[in-house]
Amino acid sequence: MSAKLGKIATAKVEGDYCYSCDEPFALSNLIERDDELYCESCYEELPIYCVNCMEEVDEEGQFCSKSCVKEYQWDMRDKTLDR
Ligand SMILES: [Zn+2]
Ligand SMILES: [Zn+2]
Repeated sequence: MSAKLGKIATAKVEGDYCYSCDEPFALSNLIERDDELYCESCYEELPIYCVNCMEEVDEEGQFCSKSCVKEYQWDMRDKTLDR
């Protein structure tokens, strides 16, 4: 019915909806990730990626392998040597 469509459209204009399940929510219940907003239940199901690459890891802030740690540390070192 058009009444329901109108309600969802209004929520989208306000940016007040989950990117994954497309349900409108109160903004306080949404979590931002990669410039998209998710509801809490969808956010918990999102894969977490290595700090250095797009490999999946168990916890946020982890690296998938030692070579990624080295690569990341090398990047950080490059920046400080720049000055
Ligand atoms: Zn959702
Ligand atoms: Zn990695």
